[in-house]
Amino acid sequence: AEANPKAHVVLLPSPGIGHLTPLATLAKRLVLNHDLSATIITFSDLSSGIQQSLLSSLPNGVTSVSLPSIPLDDLPTNTHIVTRLSIMISRSVPFMRETLLTLQKTRRIVAYIIDHFGGETLSLASELGIPRYIFCTTNFFYLSFLLNLPSLYHDNHNPNQLLFLPGCTPLHPKDYSRSAIDKNSEVFAWMLRHSKHHDQVDGMMVNSFEAMEGGPAKFLKERGNGKPPVFSIGPLTCDSSSDTSQAESGLCLQWLDKQPYRSVLFIAFGSGGTLSFKQTKEMALGLEMSGHRFLWVVRKPVDADASSAYFNHRHGKNNPLGFLPDGFVERMKEKGMVVPSWAPQEEILTHDAIGGFLSHCGWNSTLESIVNGVPMITWPLYSEQPMNAVMLVEGAKVALRPTVMNNDQVVGKEAVADVVKDLMEGEGGKDVRRRMHELKEAAMKAIGADGSSNKALAQMVNKWKTLVFN
Ligand code: UDP
Repeated sequence: AEANPKAHVVLLPSPGIGHLTPLATLAKRLVLNHDLSATIITFSDLSSGIQQSLLSSLPNGVTSVSLPSIPLDDLPTNTHIVTRLSIMISRSVPFMRETLLTLQKTRRIVAYIIDHFGGETLSLASELGIPRYIFCTTNFFYLSFLLNLPSLYHDNHNPNQLLFLPGCTPLHPKDYSRSAIDKNSEVFAWMLRHSKHHDQVDGMMVNSFEAMEGGPAKFLKERGNGKPPVFSIGPLTCDSSSDTSQAESGLCLQWLDKQPYRSVLFIAFGSGGTLSFKQTKEMALGLEMSGHRFLWVVRKPVDADASSAYFNHRHGKNNPLGFLPDGFVERMKEKGMVVPSWAPQEEILTHDAIGGFLSHCGWNSTLESIVNGVPMITWPLYSEQPMNAVMLVEGAKVALRPTVMNNDQVVGKEAVADVVKDLMEGEGGKDVRRRMHELKEAAMKAIGADGSSNKALAQMVNKWKTLVFN
């Protein structure tokens, strides 16, 4: 077949909207700003309305191809999400081979781009002679941690000792990525494999920027020693309006239009985050005690697993709010809006009625808050979220965290009310708001026309464009 001369990139986001969003955004930038074409490969089993609307919002030049179903029903139901993702990806290799071979017939593939979990497919790309890249959908802090994983538990590691990663805020073991707590677990074994894959690529791109994490960024960029080069290209946020034709999405924005400037706290826990029954009640009562306005994306509580919504989205209609305290919705109808399961977060964070964001600290949510200058309250639940919280509270100092944790790990209503009041009206809130504003300015600079992130991406693209294939 006649070869398509346009340089083409293939991206494999691991399953989950938090992975698809940044990789799709990268594809979009490469196509719109750098004259490449792109194919995004997706996992059909997790295809949701949200995924579909994201994919259909992409410009011409970004094509998506869905892999056939990859059943996981032989795995025990309590299998950790990292293990699930990893197994799904390793089972995808035969399909990936077919897909890449087909694309290669008509495209000049200059880069194969995966995220933290896609390493099982790298040998396939090398076999086909395609340069390999990892797009770290998290940050330099997490990347440092992940690269350090093989040595983490050597030398009689003391679980009470702080971990000093070069250039990073010291990290207490309780804040390690949740997937790396138990070194004897299956999920830890997968994390180790993923860690090692990060040395087998031609380059790494990180969705972060130097003004946020100068220390680890400098260290990772200057490692040398044959290690893959590292580029900061963030913050990349999706910046496309989601489907607000859906009744619930539209209602949130209409409600916000009626609220005073910076008066509303937005509360959301990403695509998978779920609170326990008890915590949901305390959260509700704490919001009520705080006296502040709020917009809360509420999910049906689950006691066992804070990531339970990840592989199991349920939106809207089948999610009655009976688990909230008696009369709560009615009492709060002037001050609060409760949205079941999912809300148009990016648009909400841009709205000038929003004064703060209580977040699970997923990295996309964090970046979306930063680019809108919205100060945060950290509420990490799983994965690397506790590390992001440490970085936001102790490193960048753009977030507050609730102070009281009871023995049962539930944050009581008083602590919720205190931290909400501090953010929305207190001295702590003033400080973090000011610094968040500065961070936003720095972020805008990094992604501006002459910004460091923009230049780094252009540099990489130029290299791809000059690649010659035999
Ligand atoms: N999101 C949304 N509405 C919601 C919850 C999440 O639009 O009600 C979006 C959010 O804007 C972000 C993504 O879903 O882009 C979640 O990614 P993140 O990395 O924050 O968390 P994860 O879902 O991976 O835990």
